[in-house]
Amino acid sequence: MMSQPHPTPADIERAIRNIPDFPKPGIQFKDITPVLADARLFSGSIDLLTERFQPGAVDAVVGIDARGFIFAAAAAVKLQAGFIPVRKKGKLPYRTLEQEYDLEYGTAAVAIHVDALKPGSRVLLIDDLLATGGTAAAAAALLKQLGAQILEISFLIELGFLGGRQKLKDYPVRSLVVY
Ligand code: AMP
Repeated sequence: MMSQPHPTPADIERAIRNIPDFPKPGIQFKDITPVLADARLFSGSIDLLTERFQPGAVDAVVGIDARGFIFAAAAAVKLQAGFIPVRKKGKLPYRTLEQEYDLEYGTAAVAIHVDALKPGSRVLLIDDLLATGGTAAAAAALLKQLGAQILEISFLIELGFLGGRQKLKDYPVRSLVVY
């Protein structure tokens, strides 16, 4: 049997479903569930997100609550690395560090366990989507506070017109599909 070609970012882009006005008017929600439901696209997206790294080159893959967990956990298994969750404040059971960030109206906060990473750990930070960059910048600040070395911050999707990369200038940033 001929093996299927590896999916490209364009294949992934075609599967992303745009949902207008969800969860509120004016937001174009990028629905990644069709990517996850397609075995070839899901594993292809993990291959693309991890392609710069060999197993052993990364100590931990950090995923951001909640859709970031899906990609980060699969990437961690592929890279033979641990998986570390950055969660919304109030969800982690042990002692945490917290970082606030600004939303359009008000603030939100993300948290990580105080003992999640050893100083100097080599980490990859993954989320499903980069919008304004507030969430990823807050997560990166937590990793920095723990003394981790951020090798790369990667996203399946980037909404380039929102300029979120500006908030992540200190790190290499990669996204597979840019709108
Ligand atoms: P931001 O902090 O503005 O970069 O927002 C990023 C977070 O919000 C990510 O964890 C995304 O899952 C989610 N998000 C923001 N905008 C969208 C969108 N248009 N479609 C899907 N998820 C979004």
